[in-house]
Order: sequence, then structure tokens, then C-alpha cells
Amino acid sequence: MTERRGHRAKALVFVALMATFLGCETTPGRDFNLLSTQDEVALGEKFSAEVERQEKLCQDASLQAYVARVCSRLAAVSPRQDVTYRVKVVDSPDTVNAFALPGGFLYVYTGLLKLCGNEAELAAVLAHEIGHVAGYHHGETFTRMMGLQLGTALVLGQDPTQTAQIVADLFVRGIAARYSREQERQADALGMEILYRAGYRPDAMIDFMYKLMQYNQNRVYLPIFASHPPTEERILRLQQLVQQYPPDERRSLPLYVDRYQAEVVKRLR
Ligand SMILES: [Zn+2]
Repeated sequence: MTERRGHRAKALVFVALMATFLGCETTPGRDFNLLSTQDEVALGEKFSAEVERQEKLCQDASLQAYVARVCSRLAAVSPRQDVTYRVKVVDSPDTVNAFALPGGFLYVYTGLLKLCGNEAELAAVLAHEIGHVAGYHHGETFTRMMGLQLGTALVLGQDPTQTAQIVADLFVRGIAARYSREQERQADALGMEILYRAGYRPDAMIDFMYKLMQYNQNRVYLPIFASHPPTEERILRLQQLVQQYPPDERRSLPLYVDRYQAEVVKRLR
């Protein structure tokens, strides 16, 4: 951390502190965000280095390139364009997981790729993760954590810059990276709109959510998808959301079953 960034962190902590003391209530659907895009991307770079230190990336360059193409197609129609969306495939066939780090760094596990039946379902998962980034959910969570952590820091008499480091550590360990109910709903809604605008059949998001529910029923514990609101509730909401698109038009939109077979399913065998 340079001297300038140190000052910036202190300023950020101060603002968060004021917000805590003033009891700055956040309105539902739009939480308070103190994280600039520049800082969000810097944070994302730091965390992605950490993820890639811990996880084994898939060595199949063609598979990586294919998933990246799907991501670019979605990114082009994201309502947030001040970050670069990029995705990497993690080689872990038994892990059904995908997540977004601050600043647009996405990860998808080969276990999730195996669960998808077509390209549109994979696109639905990526669109949901892009939705978290486009909804500024990391900045909101970071801001909330700064506030909470500061309460503790004041009691313990910790240095504010040290507090910023603690929050960063929490983020890396995924403790702070849990989204709220409202954020999940927003990511679903934004994700479905992105999916549709990119030219995929939006129903694919519902299809995949069903698969996830079945998968969950056969499992004891799933880290990321042990989600709130529960999957059943999300499916009901998505079924309402999909009605906004004309039925004839949306059913004519492609799923890309064959392409997914050739580019992903055959490669993962
Ligand atoms: Zn989510």
C-alpha cells in the first residue's frame, strides 16, 4: 500500500465511521456504496490472485476461450460498462460453483459446466454473476463491512488502516462476500435481462435453477448455492420475470445445445 492509498483508506474509513454514527439507513434495493470503481478493481485484482493461488485453473485453452466468448457476449450488454468482465474456468469436476469478485473477475467450476445442458444455461449463470457486479453489490457489502468492523475496531482501539486490512481479509475468506436477499433478487433480475439482451432464451435461467434445486436436494451442503432466498422462491420470481418478454419471441431464441456439447461436454469427459 502506497502512502497515497493509505490516506485514501483512512478517508474511506472516516466516511464509513460517520455513516455508522449517523445511523445512515440504507433504502431497500440500493445500499450505500463508498467503494470507487478504481478501488473495486484493485480489490478484485488482489482477490483474484488469491483465488488463483488456491484453486487449480483448467488447462484446456479452447475451453477457457469458449467460456470467455460467452462472457463477452453478455458483458457487451451489461448496464455497467466501467469494468472489464473476464471469466476463468476452475478445474474441479465435483464443485458446482460460480462467483464474481469485485471489479468483474468471474470464476466458474467444471462441476457447474457439467450440470449445464446447453450454452444458454451457462450464460444464465454468468449473467447472474455479472448482475452482482453491475448492481455494485461488492461495494455495498464492502461498505457495510467497513461500518461493522469499525465498531469492533473502536472498542479494540485499532488503527483504521489496519481495519481496512481486516475487511480485505474477510473478503478473501468469503465471509463478507455473502449477498443479501435483495442483492440476490437484483442479480437474478439483472441477469435475466442481460441474458435476453445478449440473444439467449431467458427461460434457460429457470431451467438451470431447477437443476440446481434437484442437485441441492441430493446434497447435504453447498457453499455458494446454499442461498437465500431459497431456490424455490427464486424460481417463482424468475417465472414472473420471464413473462415480460413476448412468448413467441423468447421461445425462438437459441439455447445452443450442439455447440455446448462440442465445446464443453465432450472436452470434460
Ligand atoms: Zn448470487
